Amino acid sequence: MKKNINKDIFKASWTYDEAPESTDHIQVKKQYELYIDGKFTKPVKGKYFDTINPSDNKKIASIAEATTEDIDKAVKAARKAFKSWSTLTGKERGKYIFRIARLIQERAREFAVIESLDGGKPIRESRDIDIPLAANHFFYYAGWADKLTYAFPNRNPKPLGVVGQIIPWNFPLLMAAWKLAPALATGNTVVLKPAETTSLTALKLAEIIHESGIPKGVINIVTGAGKTGAEIVNHPDVNKIAFTGSTGVGKYIQKVTAGTNKKLTLELGGKGANIIFEDAAIDQAVEGIIDAIFFNQGHVCCAGSRLFVQESVADTVIQKLKSRMETLMIGDPLDKNTDIGAINSKKQLQIIENYIKIGLNEGGEIYQPECILPKKGNWCAPTLFLNVSQSHRIVQEEIFGPVLAVQTFRTIDEVIEKANNTPYGLSAGVWTEKGSKMFYLTQKLNAGVIWGNTFNKFDATSPFGGYKESGFGREGGLHGLKPYVKFE
Ligand code: ADP
Repeated sequence: MKKNINKDIFKASWTYDEAPESTDHIQVKKQYELYIDGKFTKPVKGKYFDTINPSDNKKIASIAEATTEDIDKAVKAARKAFKSWSTLTGKERGKYIFRIARLIQERAREFAVIESLDGGKPIRESRDIDIPLAANHFFYYAGWADKLTYAFPNRNPKPLGVVGQIIPWNFPLLMAAWKLAPALATGNTVVLKPAETTSLTALKLAEIIHESGIPKGVINIVTGAGKTGAEIVNHPDVNKIAFTGSTGVGKYIQKVTAGTNKKLTLELGGKGANIIFEDAAIDQAVEGIIDAIFFNQGHVCCAGSRLFVQESVADTVIQKLKSRMETLMIGDPLDKNTDIGAINSKKQLQIIENYIKIGLNEGGEIYQPECILPKKGNWCAPTLFLNVSQSHRIVQEEIFGPVLAVQTFRTIDEVIEKANNTPYGLSAGVWTEKGSKMFYLTQKLNAGVIWGNTFNKFDATSPFGGYKESGFGREGGLHGLKPYVKFE
């Protein structure tokens, strides 16, 4: 029977109304100081730098720049606090960490808006992923604080001392939580530096830390760029460095800490393989590909930036992927409909644009959906590269943006070989309906995290970290306690 369908309905162009998150409830100061020894302190040299909203490149606030003297003050405060913090009972330490977790939950909306303003990520992600997971990490490690002897039975775990922590700009509050929570639970004191383009939520966190009543000097938050980070790394009275960032800086830190007594953990870059077998649930896999590479504008060290599709389903997958990309909404990070927000900084946008040029010059076939990018700010359309091979730079190097390199394969051995053919070893995804194939691949792939029929899923209880040039040490779960203790 023929149905009467009004075909005009399909011709109309559908748009969503704007749905911006309100900024009325947030408090951002004009100027932020350093948080040292339980006080907000002006930097000794009196220098400040601007933090910029990447969606319009307007200044949000001035941020203090910590130099040698400030870092020395912060390390001294942490050293002094270590005596009493490390001998406090685990239960007492846990009490403060639980308090920080609850305060983050109470102010979650404010944190989410500030994270999106300062970093450019869609409010949907900061509201539903970054902030709840940050609170989750504090809750999880607060629970371990009085159970360390069960985590390491018969081994008498002891804290290391003063820990210097340096974090990147892609998940600012979440990375602060990943670093702080296990260090505090195990009885260490901390000097933490956020990345220079995204200091605001770490400084908001300093306000919460202050409110929690945690003894002064246990957590010190200092701001500044690479030079400030290097001051922490090189300070002689720091016992451990925990760094998350680019592989280049990670290698430098490894070099300068070699031969010192400093312990080190590095969480660096990645070039994750996302593998789609012909027996996978294709529509779900296409959603997974989108999530793997376009989540957080591709500013994700574990992004699935290399797609491997089995040849027999490649045409279907690529066609479905292209049409799904057409529906992605790019624009105002504070709009609740937005899928892809602003690129974090002008510098990062230039890096991504340069890689797109390299891909084209090397003969890759580009695909970008039709989309109108906002005039002001830093934006990049979601991008696919077809017709690329293992030797292309965009297949080998981390781009840290919404750019996906697509390759095909025929056999399992071939895809294992290709997936492992990179200097990195952080993440991978496998899409198949066959459990035995999934488990076979998880044994063969050289990656710290392997997702099955999903991608970019995180949980405080689950360890995360890399192999090869992606770094060493684990964050999350019981494994995440180990880099912060020594055994006597
Ligand atoms: P990106 O190049 O993507 O900005 P980086 O690795 O440079 O990534 O940045 C990650 C973090 O490392 C930031 O907090 C940054 O300020 C810090 N950093 C950069 N250079 C150094 C350095 N030489 N020593 C210590 N920290 C650094």
